Amino acid sequence: MTRSLLFAMLFAALPVALPAAAQDLAVSPVAGSIHMISGQGGNIGVSTGADGFLMVDDKFAPLADQIRAQLEALGEGELKFLLNTHFHGDHTGGNEVFGVETPIIAHHNVRARLMTEQRRGGQITPPAPPAAWPVITFDDAISIHFNGEEVKVLHVPHAHTDGDALIFFTGSNVVHMGDTFFNQRFPFVDMDSGGTVEGIVAAGRAVLAHVDDETRIIPGHGPIASPSDLETYLRMIEETRAAIAAGIEAGQRLEELQAAGAGEEWASWGDGFISTERWIATLHRDLTE
Ligand SMILES: [Zn+2]
Repeated sequence: MTRSLLFAMLFAALPVALPAAAQDLAVSPVAGSIHMISGQGGNIGVSTGADGFLMVDDKFAPLADQIRAQLEALGEGELKFLLNTHFHGDHTGGNEVFGVETPIIAHHNVRARLMTEQRRGGQITPPAPPAAWPVITFDDAISIHFNGEEVKVLHVPHAHTDGDALIFFTGSNVVHMGDTFFNQRFPFVDMDSGGTVEGIVAAGRAVLAHVDDETRIIPGHGPIASPSDLETYLRMIEETRAAIAAGIEAGQRLEELQAAGAGEEWASWGDGFISTERWIATLHRDLTE
């Protein structure tokens, strides 16, 4: 499938009544020198200051001009580094545009997956063009010293995928968690690409071990979060997982578990990309494979 076709399909999946303005990007201050660019695709984190811009993730290639306009509105300077939290196209689609002028940094497995054809369920994604490939890769961790703070990049194994990175802006007290965190909605766990529910919980716990009450968290999808929002997300995963495990133990089939739902408290969490039925299927697969 071509990128443009995939993109068209993603747009086609949106409700038809969506107003045009809702597809525009919006920029919000997070804390310190960090802003978030939200809208279509995964959330972008941006560091601005005397050194220029460092950007975390880049949505889809057709949004590159809009992203550039948002950077220009934030200040002067060049885009010096681009980080990828993981390989998915809604976080790395802009690599082929920005990678021509800026070094891209990511976990080894992000480069490996962008260089090769990827299959997820019945969906085939062709290799990304060479300009989109990360040129600096790491195993466990790497630090970038930029705009007066240490930007610590930490790999968390087998979480949303097999190449996730958490980005800690240590001076600004901001963390970008990529898709290890979907705030107020059920997460996508890419089990065909090495993701596991256990790894997502471990990533959340690793963040909570490094933060205080003032820390602001940029999730891969959803609004800017606090550590307490992350705790609620982890509680959702653990409670719904325990309920599905108990149902499996009692001999219930997936269809019965889906019909029973995930509980009243989490009813609105299925309104996003991952429905309640799909989240229950994810937990079921994770618990039975
Ligand atoms: Zn993702």
